[in-house]
Amino acid sequence: MPELPEVETTARGLRPRIIGLRVVRVGGVDWTRMLPNSTEAELQAVLPGLTVKLVDRRGKYLLIEFEQDQWLVIHRKMSGNVLLRPGNALPEAHTHLEIELDDGALLRFVDPRKFGRVYLFRSSVELNEFLGERLGPDSLIDLDATVLAAKLRKRKGRVKSLLLDQAFLAGIGNLYADEALWEARVHPLRTADSLTRVEIRRLAAAIKTVLVRGIERNGTSFSATYRDIDDRPGENQAFLNAYGRESEPCPRCGRPISRILIGSRSAHFCPRCQKR
Ligand SMILES: [Zn+2]
Repeated sequence: MPELPEVETTARGLRPRIIGLRVVRVGGVDWTRMLPNSTEAELQAVLPGLTVKLVDRRGKYLLIEFEQDQWLVIHRKMSGNVLLRPGNALPEAHTHLEIELDDGALLRFVDPRKFGRVYLFRSSVELNEFLGERLGPDSLIDLDATVLAAKLRKRKGRVKSLLLDQAFLAGIGNLYADEALWEARVHPLRTADSLTRVEIRRLAAAIKTVLVRGIERNGTSFSATYRDIDDRPGENQAFLNAYGRESEPCPRCGRPISRILIGSRSAHFCPRCQKR
């Protein structure tokens, strides 16, 4: 599942290549539930003729702003990818939206498992209302030890579960949560209110570290689903310390990495470095 680093990689890839381009055509919608707050007809009425002004990210949402304060917002969920293909590119299986730009390029939303969603917002007020209801502080932009300490205070939940809660902290999913907790040497089952000030400081730094590393390596393509805008996998999967490494040696101490279930989600950790 794409998390913050994968969405950030997509935003950074798109920014220099689509800002300033004008929408020529919108089409290819074959899955109406992908558009929770609009229709293909509405996209076709609104977007053609408008120029891309900005590409950004909030949590795991990719934001594309067009002229006249119109916004397309993409959440890729399990398997969604945003590809920028040349005008003569062959059709891609599982394409659910295609936007042709005036240099001929095709912006495609491709999603085999169909959990991904594309929203249309008719103003930044509408957009911010939507994001504000769903997202806590952004784990790359807004997070530091003070913010994290304030968020964790008086919370009794397990730290791993809180990290996955987008309204608590936006952008982190299962993979980067496991990596951050390993990096910070915090056991995933610890409760939020049991973390010491030193551990909170370490965790805030670790979150930033694993996200920045993920971005520098163009994201993580675990189980080969995530692709960048040119359909290339990321490189970070070769550098994971805990996630997906059950029974393999901890890179810090050599003890085998453990895997447990917390609710329905798996958690990978080192039982020696991350004490209960
Ligand atoms: Zn260890």
